[in-house]
Amino acid sequence: MDDGNLSLAHIRNIGLIAHIDAGKTTTTERILFYSGRIHRMGEVDEGTTTTDWMEQERERGITITAASITTSWKDTITGEEAQINIIDTPGHIDFTAEVQRSLRVLDGCVVIFDAVCGVEPQSETVWRQADQFGTPRICFVNKMDRMGADFWHTIRMIEEDLRANPIPLQIPIGVEDQFRGVVDLFEMKALVFSGEPGEPPLIQPIPPQLLEDANRARLQMLEKIIETDPDLTEKFIEGGEITNAELYTALRRAVIANTLSPVLCGSSLRNIGVQPVLDAIVRYLPNPLEMPLVQGVDPQTNEPKFCQPDPNAPFCGLVFKVVTDQFVGRLVYVRVYSGTMRAGSSVYNATRQKDERVSRLLQMMADKRNEITECHAGDIAAVVGLRNSFTGDTLCERGNRILLEQIEFPAPVVRIAVEPKYLVGQDKLNDALQKLKEEDPTFNVAFDEDIGQTIISGMGELHLEIIIDRLKREFNVECNVGAPQVAYHETITQKARAEGRYIHQTGGRGQYGVVVLEVEPGERGSGLTFINQASPLAIPPVYIPSIQLGVQQAMESGVLASYPAVDIKVTVVDGKYHEVDSSKLAYEIAAGIAFREACKRANPILLEPIMKAETRVLEDYVGSIVKDFNSRRGSVEGIQQYANGMYGITAFVPLSEMFGYVTSLRSLTSGRGTFTMQFDHYAAVPQSISERILGI
Ligand code: GDP
Repeated sequence: MDDGNLSLAHIRNIGLIAHIDAGKTTTTERILFYSGRIHRMGEVDEGTTTTDWMEQERERGITITAASITTSWKDTITGEEAQINIIDTPGHIDFTAEVQRSLRVLDGCVVIFDAVCGVEPQSETVWRQADQFGTPRICFVNKMDRMGADFWHTIRMIEEDLRANPIPLQIPIGVEDQFRGVVDLFEMKALVFSGEPGEPPLIQPIPPQLLEDANRARLQMLEKIIETDPDLTEKFIEGGEITNAELYTALRRAVIANTLSPVLCGSSLRNIGVQPVLDAIVRYLPNPLEMPLVQGVDPQTNEPKFCQPDPNAPFCGLVFKVVTDQFVGRLVYVRVYSGTMRAGSSVYNATRQKDERVSRLLQMMADKRNEITECHAGDIAAVVGLRNSFTGDTLCERGNRILLEQIEFPAPVVRIAVEPKYLVGQDKLNDALQKLKEEDPTFNVAFDEDIGQTIISGMGELHLEIIIDRLKREFNVECNVGAPQVAYHETITQKARAEGRYIHQTGGRGQYGVVVLEVEPGERGSGLTFINQASPLAIPPVYIPSIQLGVQQAMESGVLASYPAVDIKVTVVDGKYHEVDSSKLAYEIAAGIAFREACKRANPILLEPIMKAETRVLEDYVGSIVKDFNSRRGSVEGIQQYANGMYGITAFVPLSEMFGYVTSLRSLTSGRGTFTMQFDHYAAVPQSISERILGI
């Protein structure tokens, strides 16, 4: 292994994921503090933590921005040292796209559970996403000091509700206010924590009353590990000695293969059990060399191409986050998959087909920015100087092009009108909204000419609330805000044809464009499918792109109520051409006219976003929740009982019926229900409701 690869083997790109309030921020804070990078411990409750650097995150205790923070740790048992890049992931379901985006660039994660609540709906959603990406996981059962904490119950939930294969590596010593530490089942030693921040634990013999439990748990742990490794199984059967080092290696392999998920426990707030989590990150989570090769395509030939995790290979990286930093300006976070990115060099943005300049490279530490000169395969850096690179873009070398799979972002489903509170603020508002849009691909801004208002749209009510908050706090723009509205779409249900004419021939050079378009329903999610079948004599090919542009522009504002039109197949079937007067602009305008007229004839309808909602309640409330979903035009898909005795009712419900659901859930269940909701698909609005929306 050469030097470059040696350092690559010592990198861990990880994320901490959790249900909101499970303790992700507190745990991240402890990790950063223990690993020696920050010198003053912040408390979430006081709002001084490091990762939640944006003010409204502090207030709400939600981590929104997937910033990456670099730190390092030496495994206390094996002595292996690693650089850990912590990619911050959001905990709220409204920010699913952010979680997905983070999962793209992580190699492993720590899933944090609340020892009282166990597996909560959001932990389940995120767990499933991690399943999709095949991300190796270790679990941390936090808040063992809380009243009602139950380590084994949480493990049962991980097993039953998440259908995972958890393997406890520890058992707790004491619980609730008596919680003092953990028994390490490999070393068979008690680790007792003083509770002082960053203090290493005292290593003691296992308390006699825990010995039997510890022996039983150790045996189960050994069986689970040995099962995964034929050599160890043979050795075990033959009664041979199996060392901890062998067990670590086998467990690491099983974690990376996603067949086992180690479980640790502790209390981040009380500084108990966090160091073993750091050890486990180094010991069991994969380094970039252990990940499957990242695949892309050659943009010129569409042939598959792989990124070699080697600093000497051609450079390739993925932009996974753009933020506007108040000190250094536009910061673009890049995960390098192969080769080396150098400060002062030029890179090629294969997604946008543009050259870009890397002026400076920064590695973000908890308490400072480290200027670095290069960033190797496997590592993460924040780049200053990239102007035209956005989340999801591929960066590579101009002479060695590769395009990685795009990150798909769902279209926004909720919109609200905003205006500055004070007349002078419009420019400031526009400027701020543009910056926020750059950072967040699931957020959109548009100016509605008809009503003369700025409309912002996003993935949920909370998403937009946070944007409004940021406008006020970071950009000092106060806004009046309208009521949240559903972002409807329009589409057509029949085939139809229409001609569009744009002819002005009054002396001098005129305008001449005639287009006949046929429209028909496209598949859901297909957007615009554009086909040209007109004879080149009817319309010379040079004008076809203008016709497509005209259609695209017309689709932005549909014929029913100016909502965006989607999922339409458009065929250019005929047209006319004039030697002198025909122009690109004339065809563009004629195409818009033809498209709108054809859509009017094609029985247009409204589409509405349908959410997948899950509400969890005690058995007594199941009936009223089902009834309530039905009254909201919802269709209940299933009812599931969870290991903690709660019932989860899953339903598809139109978003328009879910505004303010939190309040009614509270009153239906005396505040004892929880729910999560996620966009699922668009579906036709029933006729009677559509008439109401359209004011017919
Ligand atoms: P996040 O939403 O997952 O980032 O959770 P936070 O780290 O913001 O924690 C949510 C709340 O739980 C805060 O009030 C923390 O002080 C508290 N908390 C975090 N860890 C622990 C713990 O180990 N024990 C107890 N009792 N409270 C904790």
